[in-house]
Amino acid sequence: MRTIETDVLVIGAGAAGLCAALSAEPRRVLVVSAGDPRVASSTALAQGGLAAPLGEGDSIEAQMADTLEAGCHASERRAALRVIRAAGDAVSFLCDLGVPFDRDTAGWRLHREAGHSRARVLHAHGDRTGEAILAALLAAAVRAAHIEILCGVSVLTLRESGEGRICGAWGADPAGGALRIEARDTVIATGGLGRLFPFTTNGESAQGDGLAMALGHGARVAGLEFIQFHPTALATGEDPVPLLTEALRGAGAVLLDAEGRRFMRELHPLAELAPRDVVARAVWSRRVRGEAVWLDATPVFRCERAEEFPAALAACRAHGIDPAREPIPVTAAAHYHMGGIVVDVLGRSGRAGLWACGEVAWTGMHGANRLASNSLLEAVVCGRTVGHALAREHDPMRHVCVRSHGDAPPMVQPTATDGHRLRAILGRCMGPLRHGRDLEQGERELLALGSSLAPEALIARRRLELALAMVRAALDRRESRGAHWREDYPRRDPARDTR
Ligand SMILES: Cc1cc2nc3c(=O)[nH]c(=O)nc-3n(C[C@H](O)[C@H](O)[C@H](O)COP(=O)(O)OP(=O)(O)OC[C@H]3O[C@@H](n4cnc5c(N)ncnc54)[C@H](O)[C@@H]3O)c2cc1C
Repeated sequence: MRTIETDVLVIGAGAAGLCAALSAEPRRVLVVSAGDPRVASSTALAQGGLAAPLGEGDSIEAQMADTLEAGCHASERRAALRVIRAAGDAVSFLCDLGVPFDRDTAGWRLHREAGHSRARVLHAHGDRTGEAILAALLAAAVRAAHIEILCGVSVLTLRESGEGRICGAWGADPAGGALRIEARDTVIATGGLGRLFPFTTNGESAQGDGLAMALGHGARVAGLEFIQFHPTALATGEDPVPLLTEALRGAGAVLLDAEGRRFMRELHPLAELAPRDVVARAVWSRRVRGEAVWLDATPVFRCERAEEFPAALAACRAHGIDPAREPIPVTAAAHYHMGGIVVDVLGRSGRAGLWACGEVAWTGMHGANRLASNSLLEAVVCGRTVGHALAREHDPMRHVCVRSHGDAPPMVQPTATDGHRLRAILGRCMGPLRHGRDLEQGERELLALGSSLAPEALIARRRLELALAMVRAALDRRESRGAHWREDYPRRDPARDTR
């Protein structure tokens, strides 16, 4: 067993983790990532971009209004305001690191996406925004003397001192050997959990591990029932399913049913640009009836705007689809988790020594439904906030806590069968359309799956406990709100609105 001692441990090298690490100077930071962050992070996959109120006539108030509207009366207003107010600074920070946000002669080239009342989404390299942001952050982190990055290290569980402080983590190195990481402060920035669903845009790294660990160590969590489904993933049966950015619909692409009719016009005044949950349910309800749904993006790919969507074009071509000539088959897919570890304004969880930022955290900003392109913004802003707060707590005299309860945890990796079973259960009961009857059945199936797992299958157990907590949160919420739609409780309960 190898032991590493560090000042700050950051688990995850996406936008949130790297921003936290960069901003924590003079603290000595170790960043660990399960895979190569250039591919194994949602940040690297992000297409649409980053929302900021920078356009002429736009304002913090206007982005706030759209954010709260999308959040369906469940957002924490102050958290949203804090993040949106910091958007301009976040964009300057990224530009200083060399992120090449697209511009035209008038200034920023801004895009409009669903739920936004105006064009305010910044892209970099067209729809390869996340890749460009990650490359710049990673290059800066590699250059930074206070940061060390270890890729291929999977964190399995947190370490806890006798006094109840979180003091690092147990991990597995690329060869599967046990790694004990001792740290004064630990930041969870492990991203989302879409991978717990059988149909998702999320890659291997998004299995909810950070959230599951925090839950296992008694951290407070919230919003577990709020899972956002993206309405237009390429329906080719791939895992993960390639995403077709919402900006395509902003540029004029429309949704067609099996008969070639535009169905969104009769469902919402904003038609294809209705909030994401509305469009996802409309697509999903047709797909579960066995009907095809198509995205007709021919007008976009036939004009010069095609060059703004290189990732979407490449995904279509890889499946023999020419989007300039034919409609694209689409489906809804698990995409983003609004819920997470409850954190305060600085990113502190309720557990001493434990911080969280990015998709794994619950600031309350997104409420029941994230407004498109607000998540990269939140990851950058909150990552920096955590880093700055850690920097202020710099105290080289504080000893790294080396004693902790328990020995190295068992290194048993979940079997593919356990993973498939869990994904299938969540797919049946926690999709875009839910019913209490299916949720209760899902709960029973998860309990049965739990009793078949070996006691030493720690990761599989943690994921299962997280899945159970999600199903129970969905059962408890007897209403429909944003991404949580109960067919047996189709109305919003005003008593549960945030004030
Ligand atoms: C296809 C796709 C497109 C998207 N498009 C947009 C968009 O246009 N605009 C927008 O705002 N948002 C978009 N999102 C959402 C956005 O990308 C994410 O919410 C955001 O990037 C999350 O950043 P993060 O740093 O919290 O997590 P991530 O970027 O996912 O990084 C998580 C890190 O944690 C590591 N990790 C996970 N588990 C472990 C473990 N057990 N041990 C060690 N390391 C671990 C991962 O390897 C990774 O390095 C998109 C998401 C997807 C999947």
